[in-house]
Amino acid sequence: MRKPRVFLGNCSAYHAEDIKDVIREGLSQLALTKPISGRITIKPNLVMAHPKVATDGYTRAEVIGGILANLNLKKSSEKCVKIVEKSGLGVTTQSAYRWAGYRALARQYPIRLVAMEESRRTRVVLQKSKVHPHVTVAKDLVERDFLIFAPKLKTNVLSHALSGALKLNIGSIDSKERLFHHHFDLPAKIVDLLEVANPDLIVTDGIRMSYGGNQMTQHGTDLGVLILADNAVAHDMVCAQMLNLDPHKIEHIQEAIDREYGPASLDEIEVMGDYPIEKAQAITSKLDFGFMPVDQFPSNFKIHTGTPYCTGGCHGIFLDWLHMIKDRSPGELKRFPKIPVLVGKVIQKISAKRVLLIGDCAAASPNIQSKHVVRIPGCPPTHKCIVLLMMIRLFLFAPLVRPSLIFDGFVLYPIKRIKGWLVNLRFKPELAEE
Ligand code: SF4
Repeated sequence: MRKPRVFLGNCSAYHAEDIKDVIREGLSQLALTKPISGRITIKPNLVMAHPKVATDGYTRAEVIGGILANLNLKKSSEKCVKIVEKSGLGVTTQSAYRWAGYRALARQYPIRLVAMEESRRTRVVLQKSKVHPHVTVAKDLVERDFLIFAPKLKTNVLSHALSGALKLNIGSIDSKERLFHHHFDLPAKIVDLLEVANPDLIVTDGIRMSYGGNQMTQHGTDLGVLILADNAVAHDMVCAQMLNLDPHKIEHIQEAIDREYGPASLDEIEVMGDYPIEKAQAITSKLDFGFMPVDQFPSNFKIHTGTPYCTGGCHGIFLDWLHMIKDRSPGELKRFPKIPVLVGKVIQKISAKRVLLIGDCAAASPNIQSKHVVRIPGCPPTHKCIVLLMMIRLFLFAPLVRPSLIFDGFVLYPIKRIKGWLVNLRFKPELAEE
């Protein structure tokens, strides 16, 4: 049996022709055994795209354009490629498509931009899962003949510093299920989703990689690479190596290896192309990924971490929120009140005028003595909830608190959810077995 293949192609800028050529070369070297034909679905990373505050953490439209240019689609063709996504932070996916420049692609190619929250969904029963007995995903993700993942190469403090092809799948599920067991079970949850969406091809935007801060607002640096692969686990292992990370210490990669979704070691991967891994390692070795215990983040807050420590839950999400402030308004960190913040269940005695509790476990801490307790509930709390309650209760404004995003998140998004509910009511929920 042939080894999984990962192609690293040199591509220094977002030039449409260069990207198209590198992807064509990558496809030729990968020599996929499955033809790219029939109903094609592309899943990008548009967790957040905004021209002012979220400029680097999403898959650029030029890369999706390079994939489409290699599919030989004809404008008149009935064949329609579906691009399927569900953005984060409770903003509408259609706005993310617009802000990321995907609407121009829809004018150029016969594609449909599918926003999961307002489109038809299917519930899929999983047979090999550990966390999800079933998941609700966009119908177009299930009813496909060929699935392409197009992640952004980026770091993420919620997933042991790496966000690649495997983590991309979290954006495949409905927002209610997205937070289900989004705590210490996150690695198992990520791997469960491979049963419903295991890509046939991965094309990763590493021309500029984003790193170091909040997954939505982090900054980018030039890396100059496009990564193509025929296996998601092999892809993420090579990406980890490029970032000087040990793939076996990234829990969701090891979980996927244990469940035999990919190669067990780097020796079992055939790496090809004209971009040396050492070039990426030299660049990334100088970067700070911001992946640290949350109580070590420098700020006025006195952060106490309790149990359990949830990298994918309260601890990671609160660290991600702190990074959001640092990314775009670092001066705000000095305005933070000097109060204790509890994340997880803390046993020691905490006595202060005001105390901030992040998540349901913190609320169960038995020795808090305070007249003014600010509680942010959830297991874990959502980013949206943290941003909102920090603003209302502590007057701390995150950079994402902007009129356009408030309107989008609190007015447009509920309307889109109602539309999605009506669409699915009309067609009745369906149950598919993988
Ligand atoms: S409430 Fe927070 S700390 Fe507790 S299990 Fe959930 S995510 Fe983890």
